[in-house]
Amino acid sequence: TDAARVSGAVKVYGSGDTAVRALDGVDVGFPAGRFTAIMGPSGSGKSTLMHCAAGLDTLTSGAAFIGDTELGALDDRRLTLLRRDRIGFVFQAFNLVPTLTVAENITLPMDLAGTRGDREWTEALIDVVGLRDRLHHRPAELSGGQQQRVAVARAFAGQPDVVFADEPTGNLDSRAGEEVLGLLGRAVRGMGRTVVMVTHDPVAAAHADEVVFLADGRLMDRMESPTADRVL
Ligand code: ADP
Ligand code: ADP
Repeated sequence: TDAARVSGAVKVYGSGDTAVRALDGVDVGFPAGRFTAIMGPSGSGKSTLMHCAAGLDTLTSGAAFIGDTELGALDDRRLTLLRRDRIGFVFQAFNLVPTLTVAENITLPMDLAGTRGDREWTEALIDVVGLRDRLHHRPAELSGGQQQRVAVARAFAGQPDVVFADEPTGNLDSRAGEEVLGLLGRAVRGMGRTVVMVTHDPVAAAHADEVVFLADGRLMDRMESPTADRVL
Protein backbone atom coordinates (compact mmCIF):
# COMPACT_ATOMS: atom_id res chain seq x y z
CA THR A 1 0.00 0.00 0.00
CA ASP A 2 1.02 3.60 -0.53
CA ALA A 3 1.57 5.87 2.47
CA ALA A 4 1.13 8.81 0.10
CA ARG A 5 0.29 9.21 -3.56
CA VAL A 6 -0.80 11.68 -6.20
CA SER A 7 -3.02 10.91 -9.16
CA GLY A 8 -3.31 13.01 -12.31
CA ALA A 9 -1.43 15.75 -10.47
CA VAL A 10 -1.32 19.09 -12.28
CA LYS A 11 0.07 22.23 -10.69
CA VAL A 12 0.03 25.55 -12.54
CA TYR A 13 1.59 28.64 -10.97
CA GLY A 14 0.31 32.00 -12.18
CA SER A 15 -1.97 32.47 -15.18
CA GLY A 16 -2.09 33.63 -18.78
CA ASP A 17 1.17 34.08 -20.68
CA THR A 18 3.29 33.76 -17.55
CA ALA A 19 1.68 30.53 -16.27
CA VAL A 20 4.15 27.79 -15.31
CA ARG A 21 3.01 24.16 -15.46
CA ALA A 22 5.16 22.79 -12.62
CA LEU A 23 3.39 19.38 -12.59
CA ASP A 24 1.94 18.11 -15.84
CA GLY A 25 -0.08 14.99 -15.00
CA VAL A 26 1.91 12.99 -12.46
CA ASP A 27 0.78 9.62 -11.08
CA VAL A 28 3.07 8.33 -8.38
CA GLY A 29 2.76 6.38 -5.14
CA PHE A 30 5.14 6.28 -2.20
CA PRO A 31 4.95 2.80 -0.66
CA ALA A 32 4.65 2.37 3.10
CA GLY A 33 7.83 1.07 4.69
CA ARG A 34 10.04 2.30 1.86
CA PHE A 35 12.55 5.10 1.38
CA THR A 36 11.74 6.81 -1.92
CA ALA A 37 13.85 9.58 -3.47
CA ILE A 38 12.45 12.13 -5.94
CA MET A 39 15.17 13.24 -8.34
CA GLY A 40 15.33 15.52 -11.35
CA PRO A 41 16.97 18.69 -12.59
CA SER A 42 16.38 22.07 -11.02
CA GLY A 43 12.91 23.33 -11.93
CA SER A 44 11.58 19.84 -12.80
CA GLY A 45 8.85 20.04 -10.14
CA LYS A 46 10.35 18.04 -7.27
CA SER A 47 9.54 20.53 -4.50
CA THR A 48 6.10 21.19 -5.96
CA LEU A 49 5.35 17.45 -5.99
CA MET A 50 6.50 17.06 -2.40
CA HIS A 51 4.61 20.13 -1.16
CA CYS A 52 1.37 19.01 -2.87
CA ALA A 53 1.74 15.40 -1.69
CA ALA A 54 2.32 16.63 1.87
CA GLY A 55 -0.59 19.07 1.93
CA LEU A 56 1.62 22.18 2.14
CA ASP A 57 0.27 23.35 -1.22
CA THR A 58 -2.80 22.44 -3.30
CA LEU A 59 -2.97 20.89 -6.77
CA THR A 60 -4.57 22.76 -9.67
CA SER A 61 -6.19 19.47 -10.66
CA GLY A 62 -5.83 15.82 -9.78
CA ALA A 63 -5.75 14.37 -6.28
CA ALA A 64 -3.29 13.83 -3.44
CA PHE A 65 -3.75 11.16 -0.79
CA ILE A 66 -2.21 10.38 2.58
CA GLY A 67 -3.25 6.76 3.01
CA ASP A 68 -6.91 6.73 1.96
CA THR A 69 -7.49 10.38 2.85
CA GLU A 70 -7.84 12.73 -0.10
CA LEU A 71 -6.29 16.05 0.89
CA GLY A 72 -8.50 18.12 -1.42
CA ALA A 73 -11.58 16.93 0.46
CA LEU A 74 -10.37 18.39 3.77
CA ASP A 75 -11.10 21.87 5.06
CA ASP A 76 -8.13 23.93 6.35
CA ARG A 77 -8.57 22.82 9.94
CA ARG A 78 -8.64 19.12 9.08
CA LEU A 79 -5.69 19.53 6.72
CA THR A 80 -3.67 21.21 9.47
CA LEU A 81 -4.52 18.36 11.85
CA LEU A 82 -3.59 15.75 9.25
CA ARG A 83 -0.19 17.42 8.66
CA ARG A 84 0.37 17.62 12.40
CA ASP A 85 -0.66 14.07 13.26
CA ARG A 86 0.24 11.97 10.21
CA ILE A 87 3.16 13.70 8.47
CA GLY A 88 6.69 14.60 9.55
CA PHE A 89 8.84 17.21 7.78
CA VAL A 90 12.57 17.72 7.40
CA PHE A 91 13.67 20.87 5.54
CA GLN A 92 16.99 21.99 4.11
CA ALA A 93 17.12 24.88 6.59
CA PHE A 94 16.54 22.66 9.71
CA ASN A 95 13.64 24.92 10.91
CA LEU A 96 14.23 24.30 14.62
CA VAL A 97 12.78 26.68 17.21
CA PRO A 98 15.84 28.62 18.45
CA THR A 99 14.49 29.37 21.92
CA LEU A 100 13.70 25.72 22.71
CA THR A 101 16.15 23.05 23.82
CA VAL A 102 16.90 19.96 21.74
CA ALA A 103 14.55 17.90 23.91
CA GLU A 104 11.77 20.49 23.57
CA ASN A 105 12.25 20.72 19.81
CA ILE A 106 11.98 16.94 19.48
CA THR A 107 8.75 16.72 21.49
CA LEU A 108 7.27 19.89 19.96
CA PRO A 109 4.88 18.09 17.57
CA MET A 110 3.44 16.09 20.48
CA ASP A 111 3.27 19.17 22.71
CA LEU A 112 1.38 21.04 19.99
CA ALA A 113 -0.96 18.09 19.60
CA GLY A 114 -1.50 17.94 23.36
CA THR A 115 -0.39 14.32 23.52
CA ARG A 116 2.52 12.86 25.43
CA GLY A 117 3.58 10.63 22.60
CA ASP A 118 5.19 7.27 23.11
CA ARG A 119 7.97 7.80 25.62
CA GLU A 120 9.88 4.64 24.71
CA TRP A 121 9.79 5.63 21.06
CA THR A 122 11.07 9.13 21.83
CA GLU A 123 13.87 7.74 23.99
CA ALA A 124 14.86 5.29 21.26
CA LEU A 125 14.91 8.11 18.71
CA ILE A 126 17.18 10.24 20.88
CA ASP A 127 19.64 7.34 21.03
CA VAL A 128 19.42 6.60 17.32
CA VAL A 129 20.21 10.20 16.38
CA GLY A 130 22.99 10.30 19.00
CA LEU A 131 21.84 13.41 20.86
CA ARG A 132 21.52 12.10 24.40
CA ASP A 133 24.33 14.43 25.62
CA ARG A 134 22.87 17.48 23.82
CA LEU A 135 19.28 17.37 25.09
CA HIS A 136 19.51 20.63 27.05
CA HIS A 137 21.43 22.58 24.40
CA ARG A 138 19.78 25.09 22.10
CA PRO A 139 20.05 24.83 18.30
CA ALA A 140 22.62 27.66 18.03
CA GLU A 141 24.98 25.60 20.20
CA LEU A 142 24.93 22.70 17.73
CA SER A 143 26.64 22.07 14.40
CA GLY A 144 24.51 22.00 11.25
CA GLY A 145 24.67 18.22 11.18
CA GLN A 146 23.55 17.97 14.79
CA GLN A 147 20.70 20.42 14.13
CA GLN A 148 19.50 18.34 11.22
CA ARG A 149 19.66 15.20 13.39
CA VAL A 150 17.36 17.00 15.86
CA ALA A 151 15.04 17.84 12.96
CA VAL A 152 15.03 14.17 11.92
CA ALA A 153 14.17 13.06 15.47
CA ARG A 154 11.38 15.67 15.59
CA ALA A 155 10.00 14.50 12.26
CA PHE A 156 9.63 10.90 13.50
CA ALA A 157 8.65 11.71 17.11
CA GLY A 158 4.90 11.47 16.61
CA GLN A 159 5.22 8.22 14.62
CA PRO A 160 3.76 9.80 11.47
CA ASP A 161 2.58 7.74 8.50
CA VAL A 162 5.21 9.37 6.29
CA VAL A 163 8.16 11.75 6.64
CA PHE A 164 8.85 14.15 3.77
CA ALA A 165 12.41 15.49 3.51
CA ASP A 166 13.17 18.38 1.15
CA GLU A 167 16.91 18.46 0.26
CA PRO A 168 17.75 17.44 3.85
CA THR A 169 21.50 17.43 3.14
CA GLY A 170 21.54 20.67 1.13
CA ASN A 171 23.16 22.72 3.90
CA LEU A 172 25.49 20.02 5.21
CA ASP A 173 29.03 18.95 4.41
CA SER A 174 29.30 15.46 2.95
CA ARG A 175 30.10 13.74 6.23
CA ALA A 176 27.18 15.31 8.14
CA GLY A 177 25.00 14.62 5.12
CA GLU A 178 25.94 10.94 5.14
CA GLU A 179 24.98 10.75 8.83
CA VAL A 180 21.57 12.27 8.20
CA LEU A 181 20.95 9.98 5.21
CA GLY A 182 22.05 7.01 7.31
CA LEU A 183 19.47 8.01 9.94
CA LEU A 184 16.69 8.25 7.37
CA GLY A 185 17.68 4.81 6.07
CA ARG A 186 17.67 3.33 9.57
CA ALA A 187 14.26 4.85 10.30
CA VAL A 188 12.92 2.96 7.29
CA ARG A 189 14.87 -0.30 7.34
CA GLY A 190 15.38 -0.56 11.10
CA MET A 191 12.20 1.05 12.46
CA GLY A 192 9.64 0.40 9.72
CA ARG A 193 8.96 4.06 8.88
CA THR A 194 8.22 5.64 5.46
CA VAL A 195 10.37 8.40 3.94
CA VAL A 196 9.98 10.48 0.77
CA MET A 197 13.04 12.63 0.04
CA VAL A 198 13.54 15.31 -2.61
CA THR A 199 17.15 15.61 -3.73
CA HIS A 200 19.15 16.62 -6.79
CA ASP A 201 22.15 14.73 -5.42
CA PRO A 202 22.69 11.18 -6.78
CA VAL A 203 24.85 10.33 -3.77
CA ALA A 204 21.94 11.17 -1.48
CA ALA A 205 19.44 9.32 -3.69
CA ALA A 206 21.61 6.20 -3.48
CA HIS A 207 20.53 5.85 0.15
CA ALA A 208 16.92 5.35 -0.92
CA ASP A 209 15.29 2.01 -1.84
CA GLU A 210 13.70 3.46 -4.92
CA VAL A 211 14.16 6.57 -7.07
CA VAL A 212 11.52 8.38 -9.15
CA PHE A 213 12.75 10.81 -11.79
CA LEU A 214 10.95 13.99 -12.80
CA ALA A 215 11.64 16.15 -15.85
CA ASP A 216 9.55 19.14 -16.92
CA GLY A 217 6.80 18.25 -14.47
CA ARG A 218 6.42 14.69 -15.71
CA LEU A 219 7.39 11.33 -14.24
CA MET A 220 10.16 9.99 -16.47
CA ASP A 221 11.30 6.84 -14.74
CA ARG A 222 11.09 4.81 -11.57
CA MET A 223 13.76 2.37 -10.48
CA GLU A 224 15.06 0.38 -7.55
CA SER A 225 18.18 2.05 -6.26
CA PRO A 226 21.03 -0.18 -7.40
CA THR A 227 23.29 1.03 -4.62
CA ALA A 228 20.87 1.29 -1.69
CA ASP A 229 22.77 0.99 1.53
CA ARG A 230 20.80 -1.82 3.14
CA VAL A 231 23.03 -2.09 6.19
CA LEU A 232 21.11 -1.10 9.31
P1 ADP B 1 12.46 21.70 -8.34
O1 ADP B 1 12.11 21.45 -6.91
O2 ADP B 1 12.61 20.45 -9.14
O3 ADP B 1 13.64 22.61 -8.51
P2 ADP B 1 10.06 23.32 -8.33
O4 ADP B 1 8.95 22.44 -7.96
O5 ADP B 1 10.65 24.21 -7.30
O6 ADP B 1 11.21 22.43 -9.01
O7 ADP B 1 9.63 24.26 -9.56
C1 ADP B 1 8.99 23.74 -10.74
C2 ADP B 1 8.66 24.91 -11.65
O8 ADP B 1 7.67 25.72 -11.03
C3 ADP B 1 9.82 25.84 -11.95
O9 ADP B 1 9.67 26.31 -13.27
C4 ADP B 1 9.64 26.94 -10.94
O10 ADP B 1 10.22 28.14 -11.41
C5 ADP B 1 8.14 27.05 -10.85
N1 ADP B 1 7.69 27.53 -9.53
C6 ADP B 1 7.90 26.93 -8.34
N2 ADP B 1 7.30 27.59 -7.33
C7 ADP B 1 6.70 28.66 -7.92
C8 ADP B 1 5.91 29.74 -7.42
N3 ADP B 1 5.61 29.85 -6.13
N4 ADP B 1 5.46 30.65 -8.33
C9 ADP B 1 5.74 30.53 -9.63
N5 ADP B 1 6.46 29.53 -10.17
C10 ADP B 1 6.94 28.61 -9.33
P1 ADP C 1 12.27 26.92 1.30
O1 ADP C 1 11.55 26.50 0.04
O2 ADP C 1 12.60 28.38 1.36
O3 ADP C 1 13.43 26.04 1.65
P2 ADP C 1 10.92 25.47 3.39
O4 ADP C 1 11.27 24.23 2.65
O5 ADP C 1 11.53 25.76 4.70
O6 ADP C 1 11.18 26.75 2.46
O7 ADP C 1 9.35 25.54 3.55
C1 ADP C 1 8.51 25.32 2.45
C2 ADP C 1 7.08 25.54 2.87
O8 ADP C 1 6.70 24.69 3.96
C3 ADP C 1 6.80 26.96 3.35
O9 ADP C 1 5.57 27.37 2.78
C4 ADP C 1 6.67 26.84 4.85
O10 ADP C 1 5.77 27.80 5.37
C5 ADP C 1 6.14 25.45 5.02
N1 ADP C 1 6.60 24.83 6.29
C6 ADP C 1 7.82 24.93 6.81
N2 ADP C 1 7.91 24.20 7.95
C7 ADP C 1 6.70 23.61 8.15
C8 ADP C 1 6.15 22.73 9.12
N3 ADP C 1 6.88 22.28 10.15
N4 ADP C 1 4.88 22.34 8.99
C9 ADP C 1 4.15 22.77 7.97
N5 ADP C 1 4.60 23.61 7.01
C10 ADP C 1 5.86 24.02 7.09
